[in-house]
Amino acid sequence: MSIIVEKYGGTSVGSIERIQSVSKNVAKQVRQGYKAVVVVSAMSGETNRLVALAKSMTARPSDREMDTLLSTGEQVTIALFALALQNLEIPAQSFTGFQVPIVTDSVHSRARITNIEVESILAVLNAGKVAVVAGFQGINSTNEITTLGRGGSDTTAVALAAALKAKECRIYTDVDGVYTADPRVVEGASRIPKITYEEMLEMSGSGAKVMQIRAVEFASKYEIPLRVLSSFEPDEGTIITKEEDIMEQPKISGITSVDGEAKVTVRGVPDRPGIAYSILGPISDAHINVDMIVQNIGTDETTDLTFTVNQDDLHTALDVLAPVVRELDAETVVGDKNLAKISVIGVGMRSHAGIATTMFKALAEKGINIQIISTSEIKISVTIDREYRELAVRTLHSAFRLEERGKKE
Ligand code: ASP
Ligand code: MG
Repeated sequence: MSIIVEKYGGTSVGSIERIQSVSKNVAKQVRQGYKAVVVVSAMSGETNRLVALAKSMTARPSDREMDTLLSTGEQVTIALFALALQNLEIPAQSFTGFQVPIVTDSVHSRARITNIEVESILAVLNAGKVAVVAGFQGINSTNEITTLGRGGSDTTAVALAAALKAKECRIYTDVDGVYTADPRVVEGASRIPKITYEEMLEMSGSGAKVMQIRAVEFASKYEIPLRVLSSFEPDEGTIITKEEDIMEQPKISGITSVDGEAKVTVRGVPDRPGIAYSILGPISDAHINVDMIVQNIGTDETTDLTFTVNQDDLHTALDVLAPVVRELDAETVVGDKNLAKISVIGVGMRSHAGIATTMFKALAEKGINIQIISTSEIKISVTIDREYRELAVRTLHSAFRLEERGKKE
């Protein structure tokens, strides 16, 4: 008998009615002969409510107490979910993270899973029961409660699926899959039937918010097929899997966009070895994440170096670089906010020429100015004025004919 892991997010367990409704879905899988492990999030809004409670107590709640507090959200849901299954005459047993146990490191509020002991869950499954496991929480080696970071239940589900060698890990959410673009921006956006782990990682890193990125990394590492589907109307959803399992690769899988990017340019830097290090070293020491980096070809023995950061980090970045500019005897450092990054993603890029040309031509035809370009093997990203973000996404979606994408497979 195969094991499946089904994860239900906050909106899917947001009320008693929702829990009753999705538990019927689990009952169906059990009656079809699957051994089911259910992983749940806190009821929607609950984690935020708990965060607000702590913040009203103190401006800087300690990480340890935060984890103890936030883990209660999921504990409520596992018990209610098990009761809902029992109501349907499906034997079920709830597990907190420490009852499993799901062992993590000690980094409170963003712990990493180091080990899952599956014996207790297997015993429950073998006794013909459903195991209902609290997502997002674990326990460290000294029995402290830890949490995995916001959205961490996805990671719990995938890690359990890997540890239990499950046939599939299903992530039930409020959308019915991964789309070729944000359907709120592009009317013709279509559901992608199958996508590779690599593409999904690029999509999540470039603005598509379907799943916690670590969950996808985990699934990829252990080759667990992941399915994202709606808990309201369960359909085929989107399967995230390895490249070999996808017969016909389209050129492009999707278009993503991120707002709130800023660019920093250091002008007139003497062109000599160690420049990139002297500029980007202090930025990384200040814990600022750098995304795209461009260094121009030097002229007159000087060069310009441009990089992008999150808009919220722009001020700090400029402050950090002011003394560096003096030290290096560079001309100046300037910042520019209000950028958006648009990415075109697809493993098919590896075997098809001309993707970049299609992209740049389509943007040019709309008079959208490209500021920075960066590429990877399966992604081309450009930054543009934030004002044109939606237009750019729509333009590229139709330039690559993605409306037809979902219908083909
Ligand atoms: N309840 C946690 C959160 O809201 C974990 C999760 O939902 O995955 O972030
Ligand atoms: Mg969630």
